[in-house]
Amino acid sequence: MEIVWQQTTAPKAKPDPNGLGFGRVFTDHMFVMDYNPEHGWHDPRIVPYGPLELEPSTVTLHYAQAVFEGMKAYRTADGRILLFRPRLNLERLNQSCDRLCIPPLDTEFVLRALKELLRIEQDWIPSAPGTSLYIRPFVFATDTILGVHPAQTYKFVIILSPVGSYYPEGINPVSIYVEPEHVRAVRGGTGQAKAAGNYAAGLKAQKAAKAGGHAQVLWLDALERRYVEEVGAMNVFFKIGGEVITPELGGTILPGITRRSVLELLRSWGVPTAERKLAVDEVFEAHAAGTLEEAFGSGTAAVISPIGRLAWRMQVIDINEGRIGELSKKLYDTLTGIQTGRLPDDFGWTEEV
Ligand SMILES: *Cc1c(COP(=O)(O)O)cnc(C)c1O
Repeated sequence: MEIVWQQTTAPKAKPDPNGLGFGRVFTDHMFVMDYNPEHGWHDPRIVPYGPLELEPSTVTLHYAQAVFEGMKAYRTADGRILLFRPRLNLERLNQSCDRLCIPPLDTEFVLRALKELLRIEQDWIPSAPGTSLYIRPFVFATDTILGVHPAQTYKFVIILSPVGSYYPEGINPVSIYVEPEHVRAVRGGTGQAKAAGNYAAGLKAQKAAKAGGHAQVLWLDALERRYVEEVGAMNVFFKIGGEVITPELGGTILPGITRRSVLELLRSWGVPTAERKLAVDEVFEAHAAGTLEEAFGSGTAAVISPIGRLAWRMQVIDINEGRIGELSKKLYDTLTGIQTGRLPDDFGWTEEV
């Protein structure tokens, strides 16, 4: 399929690289493609970034038949543009689509379209330390019939946003609230998909955690409110007695690409790892016994986000005296080093645009 390019007549001024924040400014162009049963995915185009016109009856606005992805393009010191394991994101996008009855995309075609969009927007990729261009591909149903049904028509869109360093003042471990009541996902639900509705469902707990002075929520399993699942929209790891433990993927946990990369790095370093059920009591008992060494979240936005404090019921514990752990720091430095071309890419994880 040929990708049509309609160039903007009103290019925007580039933002100040020191005040970028996250997902607040968008580049000049976006990629758009449509789906209907007659033509499949068709009409791929790169057009000026701008509003999408939708009828009020568009089903996605009512029933959230929508999925998304999150990835980044990095600028290397010698000016190249790198993507980090992009095929894994696009395969996961198709898995999310499958869960929500959305027709799959041709991942190789989408990668080609993404690279074409990135080449057009390359001047938007910031180069200051910690900055990158966040890539948000998403798919949503566009039928205008209010009955609950798998839609016949969809839109796939990619928008780009230059983002600042997640840690402008250096990595500071955050305080996390163990959520006793609300749950993020249930077995058989959509927890393993990047489905739009999952995030709306988590807002109430997130708001309460923030009001209590915490940065995020630690989600527990839905059946027993006992096993650790994720932290905010990140996967979670605990280092206990020299072993790094993360909850096993079982349908309720998002299979993070950062999570997978962390596990692969740890294994390559000979650090013992385990993917298993981890009860929150076990974490607090390990702290009491002095064997809880580190805890951190993992995800594309922050890469590694150390947890300095955990609050659960009436108990509050500090982890590693609220400082970033040695292994957390090494993982952060190694992952960001590979992503930005500062370190050799021994695993073949990066792909040049
Ligand atoms: C996106 C996401 C993650 C992290 O996935 P990465 O591929 O590492 O960015 C973890 N948990 C949830 C709920 C997410 O939405």
